[in-house]
This record gives sequence, C-alpha cells and structure tokens, in this order.
Amino acid sequence: MEKRTPANIRFWDVRKDGSRRRIADLTQETNAPIAVLRGDIEEALWHGIEEKVEVRFGTVPVAIVNGATQAQVTLQTEDGEETTENYDLVIGADGVRSTVRKLVFGPDEAFFHSIGTMLCAFPLARPVEGFNAGDGLMVADVKRTLTVFPLEGRPSTALFSYRTRKPEKVSGKDPLSTLRQIFADLDVNGIISKALEDLSTTDDFLFDSVQMVKMPHWSKGRVLLLGDSAWCLTLYSGMGASAGMMGGQVLGEALAACPRDIDGALKLFENRMRPFVRKHQKFIALRSQLFVPSNRFSLWGRRVLWQILLRSRKYLFRKSV
Ligand SMILES: Cc1cc2nc3c(=O)[nH]c(=O)nc-3n(C[C@H](O)[C@H](O)[C@H](O)COP(=O)(O)OP(=O)(O)OC[C@H]3O[C@@H](n4cnc5c(N)ncnc54)[C@H](O)[C@@H]3O)c2cc1C
Repeated sequence: MEKRTPANIRFWDVRKDGSRRRIADLTQETNAPIAVLRGDIEEALWHGIEEKVEVRFGTVPVAIVNGATQAQVTLQTEDGEETTENYDLVIGADGVRSTVRKLVFGPDEAFFHSIGTMLCAFPLARPVEGFNAGDGLMVADVKRTLTVFPLEGRPSTALFSYRTRKPEKVSGKDPLSTLRQIFADLDVNGIISKALEDLSTTDDFLFDSVQMVKMPHWSKGRVLLLGDSAWCLTLYSGMGASAGMMGGQVLGEALAACPRDIDGALKLFENRMRPFVRKHQKFIALRSQLFVPSNRFSLWGRRVLWQILLRSRKYLFRKSV
C-alpha cells in the first residue's frame, strides 16, 4: 500500500481573525500512524484475493433465512434478477448502514448511538490558497469545524463537521446549502467558501451523521457481522479500517482453530474482539471534542492540547538528537 503522509507535513490552527498557529500533526497523534487511503486498502485487498475468491459486483442481499446450521440468502442483481443460495456462514461486512444487519438483527435505530455530529468529506479540487502542499489545517469554532488533511500524491481531503441535535433528520438534505448556511460567518480568508465551491463540482462526497454501532452479540445462527456493521467506531477513533481488517484476521484464526465447530469459532471471535472494540468505543464522545468542540471551554482546551502535543514532540526530538 502507498504511504500517503506527505514528507513535509505541517498542521495549522486557523483562527477566526485569519491568524494561524502551528499545531501537532494529526497523523502522528498516537504511535505515529501512517496515512493511507481507503481506496488503496481496497486495491491491496483486491490483489490479495483476485482469482481466489469469487466476487459478484452490483449484487445485494434482499432476504436472509437464518437457520441453525445454514443461512439461505436471496441475492439481487442490478437488473432485478434474483438467486437464492445456501451458505454455512454469512458474514455481513457491509458498513455502518449494513443491509445484512437490518435483514437479520433489526433496524438501525436499535443499534445506533449518535455522537450528535454530521460530517461531509470530499477531495479538494485545488490546494488551499496561502498554504504549502503538505500543509493540513483546521478552522474550528464552537460546534463546527473544517479540517483539511494533506495526502501525498492525491488531492487533500476536506472534512466539514458540525454538531446538531437530530443528525438523522439532516442526513437526506443537500450538503452544499446546509454547509453554506452553517459555516456562513466562519469564512476565514475565503477558505470555507472555496472548499464549498469544490464540493459543488464533485460527486465524490460523503454527507452523513456519525453513528457508533453497539450490539450485544455480533452473530445470530449462521450470520455474523464484522467491521462497521458490527461495531462502527466512527472516524473519531481513527481505528475503523484497522478494526475491520483485524476482525477479518481474528475470524480467520478462530475458524482455523475450530474447523468443525462454527458456533465455537464465532464465540472465540467475539471473545477476542470485544475488549478491543470496547476500549476504542469508550472515549469516542470525548475524542469527538478534538474534532468538533461542543462549547467554548472545549474549543480552548483543544487548542491548548494541540499546542502541548506539538511542544512535547519538539522536545522529544531535540532530546533524541
Ligand atoms: C470521513 C471518514 C474518515 C475516516 N477516517 C478514518 C481514519 O482516519 N482511520 C480509520 O481507521 N478509519 C477511518 N474511518 C472509518 C473507516 O472508513 C471505516 O471504519 C471502515 O471503512 C470500515 O470498514 P468496513 O469494511 O467495515 O465498512 P465499509 O468501508 O463501509 O465497507 C462496506 C462495503 O460494503 C458495501 N455494501 C454496503 N451495502 C451493501 C449491500 N447491500 N450489498 C453489497 N455490498 C454492500 C459497500 O459498497 C462497501 O464497499 C473514517 C470514516 C469516515 C466516514
């Protein structure tokens, strides 16, 4: 996989008056994670399974009859053609708004835990004026933030986030007019309006509410959920992609350890994954304050924290030199 962290990365906190201060680099927040693109992960995984695993594109499950030893799945293609097939185990790895979860476990509302924030993410069409390639920035105010994440060899990603009492109600709305209204008086140096111009010219965006998924069990009969569908940690954890891949590996190991006992393997999988998921779900509400402060105190605390992180890193660097 390509490493997408720019070599000369720097992060800036841009204030309402247009001034900027250097802050800690978000990609080095804990244990110096490396920036990778979701698309790069998909491509790498694709190369790993090509011609070994049958993949059917444009095909979705529309019904699942769950049994004690098998599950019967009805699949539908884009042309509306249906086939029904039996499987020893069905794994729903179909994301936070999982269809497999809806078909077998229940409606989204039964498992969603709202963080009270909305996000809109998309690639910027051009660099932010007045900043270098490799620069990231945050324009933050109470209950609303724009963060720009720089990527090596790819356009930077813009991430608008804001707090709202009923995020699910906003999800179907037009992101452009909604964001224009919410960020109208935060257009520092035209950064917001230029980013929104870029949003108006792309179809490649995500506008959604941020939901944690919490479930008492991740399997039922012969159907298992894995990744965001089972435990969505949200973007605030920074661990969603890793947790999904780790889930795949842990499940593979559990099935290998219990070759003739799928129930035993599912139990083993759940026992191994629960502590990790619990740990990362615990502080999501608090971590969301780093991205979208809910009040003035959080806004101030967040700024102080980024400054401390930056200073401590400089100190560690000098010490090691
Ligand atoms: C803005 C944003 C930033 C993020 N930043 C980070 C980060 O920095 N670090 C990190 O680790 N994580 C991050 N995440 C979280 C991360 O993207 C997810 O946790 C991760 O992609 C989950 O993987 P998944 O395979 O479980 O689900 P997904 O990646 O959502 O994949 C689900 C797949 O299922 C397919 N699918 C859905 N429904 C159906 C259906 N009915 N039939 C067939 N296929 C279907 C979808 O097309 C998709 O390909 C971020 C998320 C967002 C939204």
